[in-house]
Amino acid sequence: MDICDLAPGYVRAIAPYQPGKPISELAREMGIDETGIIKLASNENPRGVSPLARRAIEAMLSGLARYPDGNGFELKQALSRRLGVPQERIVLGNGSNDVLEMAARAFLAPGLAAVYSQHAFAVYPLAVQAIGATGIEVPAKNYGHDLAAMRRAVTQETRLVFIANPNNPTGTLVPARELENFIAGLPREVLLVLDEAYNEYLLPEHRSDSIGWLARFSNLVVTRTFSKVYGLAGLRVGYAVAAAGVADLMNRVRQPFNVNSVALAAATAALEDAAFVRESFELNRSGIRQLTDGFGRLAIEYIPSHGNFVSFRVKDAPGVYGKLLKAGVIVRPIASYGMPQHLRVTVGLESENARFLAALERALL
Ligand SMILES: *Cc1c(COP(=O)(O)O)cnc(C)c1O
Repeated sequence: MDICDLAPGYVRAIAPYQPGKPISELAREMGIDETGIIKLASNENPRGVSPLARRAIEAMLSGLARYPDGNGFELKQALSRRLGVPQERIVLGNGSNDVLEMAARAFLAPGLAAVYSQHAFAVYPLAVQAIGATGIEVPAKNYGHDLAAMRRAVTQETRLVFIANPNNPTGTLVPARELENFIAGLPREVLLVLDEAYNEYLLPEHRSDSIGWLARFSNLVVTRTFSKVYGLAGLRVGYAVAAAGVADLMNRVRQPFNVNSVALAAATAALEDAAFVRESFELNRSGIRQLTDGFGRLAIEYIPSHGNFVSFRVKDAPGVYGKLLKAGVIVRPIASYGMPQHLRVTVGLESENARFLAALERALL
């Protein structure tokens, strides 16, 4: 008997997460230089690391022989001030993926269930399945969350509901009022994990007062990340804000030093770099316009997006993906999200968006 056959069936059945293709991998495969490739595949910030974060990273290097602060005091203090919530309600993660998993580990077990939407972020089913709990996928409505159907999918066994707002890879947004009503209508024994990885890219009028809602809803967990607008995807830092008791449970299943010291220092500095965040936001607005204007010109159907990416529909998505790769442009196929005819492109620098659109036009000939 092979020892691998003895791993739980729910572990053996996990379909691995499919990340965007790394630049170095495509360069190796094509035998070309990395500088000739642009990656618009993982919703990273095309402007790179903020100057303040870079300085904090360099200053931290000499301290790397020491373990990090396992409680992440300084970053939590900075977040606490910024968000107006006490530190004991904040949980730090090795990326927000880590806090999403902590929520699953703290509240799920075999026999219990979590509800999420079709086309929602791939980490939700992964986190649920790794525990042997049951994932309930609710069909999407116009590519977005169907909140009424999700509410109906909640049963006695349900402990978690995941909502990404805006959602990746569709870019759809649940309006604040609908979201607030949804939480108010959930049983208190069901935790809503509200994933706001793209919150900073939202127009002010589209942001919901999710942190404020925490005062009223003890069954709400809000998660955010430093991987997107803050430009620190490679360092892996994210956080959750929740009721103190929920945060305490999540911290119990957390690895003691889950966030490394460089990441802690960089995130603390990035949080203060208001100019970088504002410029990144503005670059994204104009980039979304550039891409959607381009799609319009090429008569390509796309899903209007509230994030830093746009998913668009083509007849032969694998073929177009391959042609774009040959042109040195990496986008993201999203067949694994149940969208085999779509590709997702991340907003890049103006020159990168232009190069993508030109390559796309040629790929469609
Ligand atoms: C990118 C993304 C995250 C962030 O992942 P990190 O682990 O923080 O890098 C979380 N949720 C969604 C929906 C995302 O698209």
